[in-house]
Amino acid sequence: MQLFAPALAFVDLETTGTGAGSDAITEIGIVRVDVADPAGPPTVTEWSTLVNPGVPIPPEIQALTGISDAMVRNAPTFAQIAGEVRARTDGAVFVAHNARFDYGFLKHAFARDGQSFTARVLCTVKLSRRLFPEAGHHNLDSVIARHSLPIDGRHRALGDARVLWAFVQALYRDLPDAAIAEAAKRVLRVPSLPPQLDAGALDALPEAPGVYLFYGLNALPLYIGKSRNLRERVGAHFSSDYRSATDSRLSAEIRRIEFEETAGEIGALLRESALVKSLLPAHNHALRRKVESGVLELPAQPGPPRYVAAAGVEPGTIAGCFGPFSSQRSAREALRSLAAEHALCWKALGLEKRQGPCFARQVKRCAGVCVGAESPEAHHARLAEALATHAIPPWPFGGLAAMREQSLLSQRVDVHVLRDWCWLGTATDEGELGRLIEAPPRPVFDADITRLLVRTSARGRLPLFPLR
Ligand SMILES: [Zn+2]
Repeated sequence: MQLFAPALAFVDLETTGTGAGSDAITEIGIVRVDVADPAGPPTVTEWSTLVNPGVPIPPEIQALTGISDAMVRNAPTFAQIAGEVRARTDGAVFVAHNARFDYGFLKHAFARDGQSFTARVLCTVKLSRRLFPEAGHHNLDSVIARHSLPIDGRHRALGDARVLWAFVQALYRDLPDAAIAEAAKRVLRVPSLPPQLDAGALDALPEAPGVYLFYGLNALPLYIGKSRNLRERVGAHFSSDYRSATDSRLSAEIRRIEFEETAGEIGALLRESALVKSLLPAHNHALRRKVESGVLELPAQPGPPRYVAAAGVEPGTIAGCFGPFSSQRSAREALRSLAAEHALCWKALGLEKRQGPCFARQVKRCAGVCVGAESPEAHHARLAEALATHAIPPWPFGGLAAMREQSLLSQRVDVHVLRDWCWLGTATDEGELGRLIEAPPRPVFDADITRLLVRTSARGRLPLFPLR
């Protein structure tokens, strides 16, 4: 059996109350599941013990759990079983219902014993919520009822821990493995940083928009990324057991993280684009995408649209072109769907080079310019009309324009200077802005930036003002 992590520890605690700092544990149950061989059944080991809390158990809690003062009087203290708890959760994902409660209690209990305790935590309430968003309730009784889970000792630690393991098994019975893995990945909150990184590396990152750079041993970065929340995004690179190939490589090679905060998401995208181009990170697919991206040009006389890759795109003539597209292949896909929609000819679009009628004509989807049933001029006019949905509109300003972006979290303001749907630079103060206006760099086409600007503008949400 394949699970979303090679080892899971389902944990449930009974306590004297709900305050992790003030109340104490009266019982611990752990069901540990190890997947040594995905082809075979997992190894399941159960363990449970009463714990002497050192204080009386309130009567209402005794009534709920059935655990009385008399029962715990001769039980071990937490200090006496701390090592056992650590061993049984070591290396496993800590799974609990309302995990913050159980995990918080254990952390406090270990701390009182002078020890630290950390684990990657998966909360089954959150997992249930993510997989069954339409369900109204996600408390344990609702989950038991929804999935017809077997109950043996509800409100006792081992009984409830067993229910959680039964819940995960029910998920694998009812849902595709990939859906469970994806949900678990999102719910797993505490990322395990690669051991060679400083333990505080994540805490050093702000929960703000910006770009981040992963460095290995070389002077050039391994990876550059952007996010509206730097800490969360960087953590996500390291938070799953089954990582993407890229994240696995990054985890092995990363030595330090650098970041640059920006005022907003647009600034982060602009900065990422510039960094990717200038630093050529070894693991960045974004760069290849940028090189392959481009626009379509339509000749004035009848003839197929021409794909111009990024390096050949002149920002001054970008208005009137179509796109941008992430690759020639995606441009051809767009043409194929226009052909289907408007009865255009595959040969006239440059999609094929055969003799006689085009493929679309053979399935009666082409109006017939390829067999002389339509004039090339008429077809070209229809093509121009069809392509209009992809047209890059005229730049609405004579020259430079600026866009102001202010951080929601800090006082930071970024002023992005733009021309011809391209980015020239970002200023964070008047001096920088003055220098950008005095001596603007030559604009360079970047498909991601142009697409973002054109789309935002089409929605009337581009707060641009002309500079001169
Ligand atoms: Zn045709």
